[in-house]
Amino acid sequence: MMLAYMDRAAAGAATERDALELTVVAADAAECAAARDFGGLVSARPAAVVRPASADDVASAIRAAARTTLLTVAARGNGHSVAGQAMSEGGLVLDMRAGAASRRQQMKLVSSGGGAAFADVPGGALWEEVLHWAVSNHGLAPASWTDYLRLTVGGTLSNGGVSGQSFRYGPQVSNVAELEVVTGEGECRVCSPSAHPDLFFAVLGGLGQFGVITRARIPLSPAPQTVKWARVVYASFAEYAADAEWLVTRPAESAFDYVEGFAFVRSDDPVNGWPSVPIPAGARFDPSLLPAGEPGPLLYCLEVALYQHHHQQPDAVDERMGEMMRRLKYVRGLEYAADVGYVEFLSRVNRVEEEARRSGSWAAPHPWLNLFVSARDIADFDRAVLKGMLADGVDGPMLIYPMLKSKWDPNTSVALPEGEVFYLVALLRFCPGGRGRGAAVEELVAQNGAIVDACRSSGYDFKTYFPHYRTEADWARHFGSKWARFVDRKARYDPLAILAPGQKIFARTP
Ligand code: FAD
Repeated sequence: MMLAYMDRAAAGAATERDALELTVVAADAAECAAARDFGGLVSARPAAVVRPASADDVASAIRAAARTTLLTVAARGNGHSVAGQAMSEGGLVLDMRAGAASRRQQMKLVSSGGGAAFADVPGGALWEEVLHWAVSNHGLAPASWTDYLRLTVGGTLSNGGVSGQSFRYGPQVSNVAELEVVTGEGECRVCSPSAHPDLFFAVLGGLGQFGVITRARIPLSPAPQTVKWARVVYASFAEYAADAEWLVTRPAESAFDYVEGFAFVRSDDPVNGWPSVPIPAGARFDPSLLPAGEPGPLLYCLEVALYQHHHQQPDAVDERMGEMMRRLKYVRGLEYAADVGYVEFLSRVNRVEEEARRSGSWAAPHPWLNLFVSARDIADFDRAVLKGMLADGVDGPMLIYPMLKSKWDPNTSVALPEGEVFYLVALLRFCPGGRGRGAAVEELVAQNGAIVDACRSSGYDFKTYFPHYRTEADWARHFGSKWARFVDRKARYDPLAILAPGQKIFARTP
């Protein structure tokens, strides 16, 4: 046991035998990482940070909190939330990254009788760690990713986990075979679609409300060796969206493995404009190729990738790539391509992180807004919001790409739009050089609010992704027909509302 510091509230818990088994570290207001997150917009000081070494430690912390009248418990993955979702004001924060050094030893390859392979990974493992372990040790890999891999397994499974693979392989919450979960009553349960299925589906996309994920079993398949990666440019949103939707609805045998895209400003601004498009490094964007008749403020970049396995003939993969590219209506001449290793492709955002760390914008506030907008309303959204409110860009990527609702299990807790095809819209605002503190950040936050209000008043079929509402009415509206089930599940698995208080959905019951 190591008990370096606890304040009064946590000291109450520490008198319990369970809590004394835990490693608890100082929670200093100024320095405690657990009081902050990537968003840099809110801060909440915990009473103590617990570094669990096992699911039993997680259970002990939760049971200790349950014996008090006020303590809450927040699992903190890598703290990449943007609105305090992994924080616990005056409560306990579980540092799920604790023991990261021994993470690889805790990952296990599991085979089913039928020959299928799975990875058993700790909830606090980064997807990057899972990737390197699975590919280098076993030549295998999960099918579904996020763009950026320094996020924890438990953190993304509590939300959804989407990227360009989602249209084809489903989001990360659709790529889990089993979970080990510690509920809000401190009970450790192994659940799956056949064992405790209600808990399993509640936890997936459950915003941390029903249990702490201590282990996940992720299906694996043979890892590709290389990736044919291409970007093409559109001046017309209608043509961009038509091609993107055509690509994500093709049969698997003639589909890409990855389809994404983003809007960018028709200018030579290095962050918001066309320099953000060309791959590989050194390739040039020639604006004189843009058609004269489409003078809008924004352009669109469709990004696709096709995996190549060693058993495939390179010519056959090239032919398939060429056959699909030929049918797209992008601006001829504004096409870019690179052949890269699979791990390099999945790690592509690391370079962005390095640059942002150098410029100071990684540590600056990130007032991000993520939405799922139905294909029915996306052209209107493009006109009113992207071209209307965000015509100068957001000092970061404005992702906009389609995925399919049928790839998401309706039993999970995730709230989605009604339509089968919906777009992820991610307004990933960076504040260059740390600019944007104070009033400017407030303006950006206010603009995010105005965008959500505009979606609502226009009657769009949409949901926020990584929602952060403050009133019960807003949460009820967010979950819609799933709200009653969400509330029931909370009563079943976390009746005292101990878990994930930073989501601000339920108040702790004394
Ligand atoms: P945290 O921020 O630490 O936690 C998020 C929530 O999950 C909190 O409520 C927390 O209490 C809960 N939680 C954490 N761990 C557990 C656990 N083990 N069990 C139960 N609950 C838990 N998302 C995408 O879908 N696709 C992307 O491509 C993508 N790219 C991103 C890129 C960057 C640079 C950033 C900052 C974020 C990105 N995200 C993306 C968003 C990201 O998936 C979420 O912010 C996610 O919650 C972050 O994971 P985390 O491990 O940092 O979780």
